[in-house]
Amino acid sequence: MGNIYAGVDLGGTTVKLGLLTDEASLIRKWEIPTRKDDGGKQVIPDIAASIKKNMEEEGIRFSELAGAGLGVPGPIRQDGYLEVCVNIGPGMRDMNPVKDLSGLLGGIPVKGGNDANVAALGEMWQGGGKGYRDVVAVTLGTGVGGGVILDGHIVAGSKGMGGEIGHMVMDWDWKEAEVCNCGNRGCLEQIASATGIARHARIFMRESDRPSVLRDLQRVTARDVFDAAKAGDGLAEDVADYCMMYLARAMAYVSQVVDPEIFVIGGGVSRAGQYLLDLIKEHYDPLIKLTRGKAKLALARLGNDAGIYGAAKMVIDEREK
Ligand SMILES: [Zn+2]
Repeated sequence: MGNIYAGVDLGGTTVKLGLLTDEASLIRKWEIPTRKDDGGKQVIPDIAASIKKNMEEEGIRFSELAGAGLGVPGPIRQDGYLEVCVNIGPGMRDMNPVKDLSGLLGGIPVKGGNDANVAALGEMWQGGGKGYRDVVAVTLGTGVGGGVILDGHIVAGSKGMGGEIGHMVMDWDWKEAEVCNCGNRGCLEQIASATGIARHARIFMRESDRPSVLRDLQRVTARDVFDAAKAGDGLAEDVADYCMMYLARAMAYVSQVVDPEIFVIGGGVSRAGQYLLDLIKEHYDPLIKLTRGKAKLALARLGNDAGIYGAAKMVIDEREK
């Protein structure tokens, strides 16, 4: 069958895995739980065993495995050294999961990256950024994630945390009363994540007595906000507009630094679709003055598979170097 690559997306609760060819065809994908007992020491051995087992079930000889890519939810350096993986446990601290996985897979090339960056690479390869080489991916989920791809390669930075746009402080007026997960206050994530949008809906409702369909809901979600905004609910429109204005400002800052061809917007909030893109564009375009051409905006296409694709692509590129 030729060269087969394993793409691994390690998350706090599940590990998503896939077997791909270098032509990007996904032969098989599956998930295993992230085993946290022993502080997460079993996670990498579980991954290696699961890859072997699934190759066997697929009838692929182990010798055809040409490499594996690994996305991890933490700061991972180019050499594979991982400082900490807070979502998993102390067994994944000050260690090298890349070397460990390579050793368990017979010494094949393994390449590691931060999960958000790896997902961005996946979207560039086979998703919303397909056909482009300079791509910034923005994930609006529980938090705000980001990944910068320049000339087809992840901009990982010195500690593997390049593209971490969710913790750019955007609210310098200190309107934000709560402290972000990272310890700062006024981070983009506190405004433009699904959680941030829902929280701002509550703040907007508290601060005025304007009527809104959102007031009838027990627990407002970002999805409710966008559904109501699309239906013309004034308060919901204002919440969506406020939150996406901050996102657009952050994207404009990113643009001035890395000048992407396209932003790919993913995560749960991106289900708001074209309405969301139009709203971001309305705030983003006027901030870009130095060039006539503005970066394009597109929706992510790979969903939860982006990390698998990106991880495989990372090691394919490494081998072709
Ligand atoms: Zn933060």
